[in-house]
Amino acid sequence: MIDFIKPDEWCIIEEGFNPDRHEQCEALFALGNGKMGGRANFEERYSGKTLQGNYVAGVYYPDKTRVGWWKNGYPEYFAKVLNAADWAGIRVWVDSEEIDLHHVEVSDFKRTLNMHEGVLYRTFKAHLSNNKEIEVSVTRFLSIVDDECGAMEYTVKPLNFSGRIKVESHIDFDVVNNDSNYDEKFWKEVEKDVAPNQVYITAATKKLDFHVCSGMRWQVYVDQEKIAPDATTGERDKYASTMFNVAVTEGETFRFVKFATNVSSENYPKSQLITWARENLSKIRNKGYEKLLQEQKEAWAAKWAESDIIVEGDVKAQQAIRFNIFQLNQTYTGEDERLNIGPKGFTGEKYGGSTYWDTEAYCLPFYLSTADKHVAKQLLVYRYKQLDKAIENAEKLGFTGGAALYPMVTMNGEECHNEWEITFEEIHRNGAIAYAIHKYVSYTGDEKHLAEYGLEVLIGISRFWSQRITFSEKRSKYVMLGVTGPNEYENNIDNNFYTNYISNWCLKYTKEVAQKVAQSDADAYRKICEKTGFDIKETERWDNIVANMHFPYDEELGIYLQQENFLDKEIIPAARLPQEQRPINQHWSWDRILRSCYIKQADTLQGFYFFESDFTDEELAKHFDFYEPITVHESSLSPCVHAVQAAKLGRTEKAYEMYIRTARLDLDDYNSEVHEGLHITSMAGTWMAFVEGFGGMRVRDNQLHFNPTLPEHWKGYAFSIRFRDNVIRLHIDQAGVEMTNLSGEAITVSVRGKHHTLPKEDKVFIKA
Ligand code: BGC
Repeated sequence: MIDFIKPDEWCIIEEGFNPDRHEQCEALFALGNGKMGGRANFEERYSGKTLQGNYVAGVYYPDKTRVGWWKNGYPEYFAKVLNAADWAGIRVWVDSEEIDLHHVEVSDFKRTLNMHEGVLYRTFKAHLSNNKEIEVSVTRFLSIVDDECGAMEYTVKPLNFSGRIKVESHIDFDVVNNDSNYDEKFWKEVEKDVAPNQVYITAATKKLDFHVCSGMRWQVYVDQEKIAPDATTGERDKYASTMFNVAVTEGETFRFVKFATNVSSENYPKSQLITWARENLSKIRNKGYEKLLQEQKEAWAAKWAESDIIVEGDVKAQQAIRFNIFQLNQTYTGEDERLNIGPKGFTGEKYGGSTYWDTEAYCLPFYLSTADKHVAKQLLVYRYKQLDKAIENAEKLGFTGGAALYPMVTMNGEECHNEWEITFEEIHRNGAIAYAIHKYVSYTGDEKHLAEYGLEVLIGISRFWSQRITFSEKRSKYVMLGVTGPNEYENNIDNNFYTNYISNWCLKYTKEVAQKVAQSDADAYRKICEKTGFDIKETERWDNIVANMHFPYDEELGIYLQQENFLDKEIIPAARLPQEQRPINQHWSWDRILRSCYIKQADTLQGFYFFESDFTDEELAKHFDFYEPITVHESSLSPCVHAVQAAKLGRTEKAYEMYIRTARLDLDDYNSEVHEGLHITSMAGTWMAFVEGFGGMRVRDNQLHFNPTLPEHWKGYAFSIRFRDNVIRLHIDQAGVEMTNLSGEAITVSVRGKHHTLPKEDKVFIKA
C-alpha cells in the first residue's frame, strides 16, 4: 500500500521528492493519446532507478517462444511491446553542472497530473553543488487533437546567480526493453535527418520491420522573448541531438519548448515517414505551444463532458473514479480498428501490450456508454478481422470445419502466449467474444452488425464449442474436460461451470442470430452460409448439447460447483490466511495454490454476472456467500464483478469495500506492483462497479433500467450515460434520483421498476 498521493478531485499529486517511489510515479503519471503513450520519466537526465517507457500503438516484437518442454500447438512467439524512442528527453547544464535529480539537492518537488486538462506538470527547486539555486517547472502532454504529437515546456529560473544554461535536446532510439534478455535491443536505425533546430530518426524493429520515425523541433525564450541561439548537432547510432547555450540573468526565466512526433509504418508508407513527421511538426509548431495546449484542454473538457462521474462528499473516491476514466480515455479512442486495449495500456511492458479477454468482458461497457457507438464497434471489428487467424489457431489444435478459437493473448490474431494451461485451456475467452456481440447489439440496437460481422464470428465460435464438448456415456450427458476457467489458480479441470455455461449460451445465441439474420436479410444470410459453409442443420447437435449438458451441482448446498469435485477441497475462508502470506501468488508455491480452494478472481460468479437474469437473487446470494469468502481477488479484474453483485444484493457496504479496492487499486498500490504499470483493463471494471453496481444500470428490452443505491460514505453521485440517440444524466442523493435528458429526443427509462418518460432536454425527479 502507498498513501502519498494527495487527495484531489481532478489531479493526481505527489509532493516531495522520494526516489524510492519514482518508478511507481512513472506509471501513475503516465500519458497517452490512443496512438502512443509513455511513462512519466523525467525529461532531464536521471541516473537513479527508472523504467524508461515510450510506446507506439501496434508496434511489437515477436520474441521466440522458449519453454522447457515444447508442446505441439504452442505458438512460435510471444509478443513484446517495444520501448520506442525517448522523445521528451533533454539534458540541462547550469554553468556546466548537469541537472540530475539523483545527484542535486531537490526541494519543493511537486508532480501533478491534471486529468481535466490531460497535462502533466512538475516543479522543483534544485540546489547545485556550486551553491547555485534554480527553480524548474515542466509541462508535458500528448495531444489528443494531433494524436501523433506531443509537446513539453521546460523552464529554468536562476534564483541566486546569473549564468549560462546549456541544453541538449534529443531523440533517442537507443533504448532497451526492461524485459530484454542480455540487454538485447530491438531497433535498427534506418535513416536520420539532423539539423540544428530539428532532428528526425527513422528506426525499424527487428523481425517484423515496423518503421517508426520520431522527430523533434524546439524553441527557446528568455522571459517572453523568443531567441535563436546557435545550435550544434550531435549524432551516434539511433541517437541525434541539438545543443545550444544561453546566458540568463538572475530572476529571468529560461524557457525551452520541444515539439515531437511519432509516425509509424502502420499508417504511412515507410519511404515517407520523415516527410510526414516533418509535416506534423510544422503543423503543430505553426499552431504554437499555447494553442496546442489550449486545444488539449478543450478536447479533454469535451471528453469529460461525456464520461465524467461525480462523487459528492468523498474526495478519494472522486479522484479514483476520474483516474480510472482518464486512463481508459488515454488508452483507447476507437479510431483504429487494428488497435485494442492492453492490460497495462501505455504504462509498462507487462502483458506485452497484447489483447486479452479483458477487452470484451470488462472494457466494452465503458466505451459503449461513454462514447459514440463506433468506438465500441471497433473492438468487435478487431475480432471479426482476426476470424481467419482464430480458425487457423483452432486447426493447429486439431479442430476442423471452420471452428474458431480466439487467442488468449494476441497482437494480430495469432496466439502469443505459451503456457499450455492458458493457451490450450483458458478457452472461455471465446465465450466473452460472443457475449460482447450480444452486449453491443442489445445496447446499441445495431442489429445490422449481426449480418455484417457478428454471425460469422459466432458460427466459428459455436463450431469450436460443439467439437470441444464431448459426450460422456457414463453420465449420458455432455461434458467439457481439461479446461482452465477464469480462476487461473486451477488448471486442467473438468466441467468448469462458467465455461460450460457460456459455451451453451453461445450455441443458443448463435442459432437465434442465424435465424434472425435469415429472416431480416436473406441475401446476407445466403452469403454468410456460402462463405462459412454453415447449414442450420449444424444446430441440431448444438440443441442436443444444450439440452443435455452437465453442470456440477451440490444438492446440499444448493450451489453450482466451480468444477467437478470442487468440494473435495478443504474449504477455509481466505480471511483466515495470515496477512503475511497474502497475496498467495507471491508467497506460496504454485503447487500449493493449485491444491488450495482459493479462487483468483470471479469464476462461477462471472457466469452469474453475465447471465444474471437466468438466476434469482436468492441463488446469487447463495453463490456469492459460498465463493466470495474463498476468493483472494489476486486478479485486478475480480473486485469489480463482486461489487456489482453485492450492490445488486443490497449489500452496499460490501459493494463499497470492493469498489474502493478496484477504484484505488493503483493509486494506493494494493498489490505492490504499480511500478510495472497500471491495471488499465480493470479500470473499466471500476466504471462497471460504479454504474452497474451503485447506479444499478442495466439494458433490458431495448430500455435503460436503473436501481440506484447510495453508499453511506457519499452525499450523492452523478453520472451520464449515452444510450442510442440519448444522453441522460443521473444525480442520486438521499432525497432521490434526478434524471436529466440532455438530448433532443424523449426517452423512457425505468427506475426501480417504474417507467418514467423523460421529454427532450428535460428533468424528472423521483423521490427516495
Ligand atoms: C487474469 C486474466 C487476465 C490477465 C490480463 C490475469 O491475471 O487472471 O483473467 O486476462 O491477467 O489482465
